[in-house]
Amino acid sequence: MLVLVINCGSSSVKYDLIETETEKQFCTGMVERIGAVTAIVKHKPADGKEIKDSKVIHNHTDALKQILEFLLDEENQIVEKKSDIKAVGHRVVHGGEQFKDSVLIDDNVIEAIEQAIDLAPLHNPPNLKGIQAAMEALPNVPHVAVFDTAFHHSLPAHAYLYGIPNRLYRRYKIRRYGFHGTSHYFVSRQYYKRIEKPVSKTKVITCHLGNGASIAAIDGGKSVDTSMGFTPLAGLVMGTRCGDIDPSILFYLVEKEELNLHSLHALVNRHSGLLGLSGFASDMRDLINEADNGDRRCQQAIDVFCYKIKQYIGSYMASLNGCDAIIFTAGIGENSYRIREQAVSNMEGLGIILDKERNKSVKPGQIERISTDDSRTEVLVVPTNEELVIAIDAAKIAQASSQSPWI
Ligand code: AMP
Repeated sequence: MLVLVINCGSSSVKYDLIETETEKQFCTGMVERIGAVTAIVKHKPADGKEIKDSKVIHNHTDALKQILEFLLDEENQIVEKKSDIKAVGHRVVHGGEQFKDSVLIDDNVIEAIEQAIDLAPLHNPPNLKGIQAAMEALPNVPHVAVFDTAFHHSLPAHAYLYGIPNRLYRRYKIRRYGFHGTSHYFVSRQYYKRIEKPVSKTKVITCHLGNGASIAAIDGGKSVDTSMGFTPLAGLVMGTRCGDIDPSILFYLVEKEELNLHSLHALVNRHSGLLGLSGFASDMRDLINEADNGDRRCQQAIDVFCYKIKQYIGSYMASLNGCDAIIFTAGIGENSYRIREQAVSNMEGLGIILDKERNKSVKPGQIERISTDDSRTEVLVVPTNEELVIAIDAAKIAQASSQSPWI
């Protein structure tokens, strides 16, 4: 089934067109800087050259029109007619406690996503704009919401409750939700395909290290703990997010620097993490270059980043009572042998031994084992594909849906 996958930010729409039986991606693209004087539109057919243009795109509805123009363009021949697209899969960041699985979007689902805006004020509103714009552009196909939080629904209460008054959980649903669920799900499934052991007996730690970063402990195929929390701010040090900090730091800063809520929010979300530590960049490639040129703060930022990963791996090995495999994925996890090496260095005592040569020679896009043959815990690099998970879920739900007689 041909599925359009949509991932909306406040000023961007990313899209992919995927044929789910063959898992072939027909094209990918992005509309950025929506609402600015000129927006940037990029469209890349799988077998063709990237088209890049700047245009006036007022809102997400215009962005969707532009995307359909690319898809229906006669020269590109990606799809002949709108009705060739059989479903639309939407990435929705926060499903709250309600959504344990992907779901066919109807008025009730839209209302529930609106109710979760409180929990994800930065993410759910643009996700909703994308849903509305896509439903206008493609009104005759099923639209499916795939939630970043859904995979972590299996967390036990001892992992999702915080040590704050229980009434705050009951009244406001303040708890750990976890994010990057589609990525943790996908890479763990890629690992299960390689092994003979029953999934129910496996213990895996997945490290999604990109601009946003999180780690999950997966027991018997189910997420049992994860580093992001109530919001994606918690856990590892990220590109610009601080990750775990002592909450008292915030009270202290309110007094010392007279920061208000807005500036505190910006401080921990946009000016912290690798960017804040290095004072130079949030991009790992830039940091590695500068560290190699002798910049001490860039090296420190890398050290803090890697140490935090190591701490979480250790902690999840305790939660899982050992683990069969540690999986690295996403921009940094897939591409940086340096970070992988540093993150799991000196862990022989826990049965983790990296093969440095294997680690260095990982080919982009390949699943590779990077631990030694005698390492008790396997270490692997597995490329993630969140869009494919969204497309497959959307196709399954669309097929099952009685509202889709055109399929
Ligand atoms: P993502 O959010 O998954 O797209 O990942 C973005 C992050 O991956 C950025 O910090 C990039 O610097 C990092 N990244 C991509 N390629 C490399 C590489 N070859 N070495 C180190 N970091 C990389």
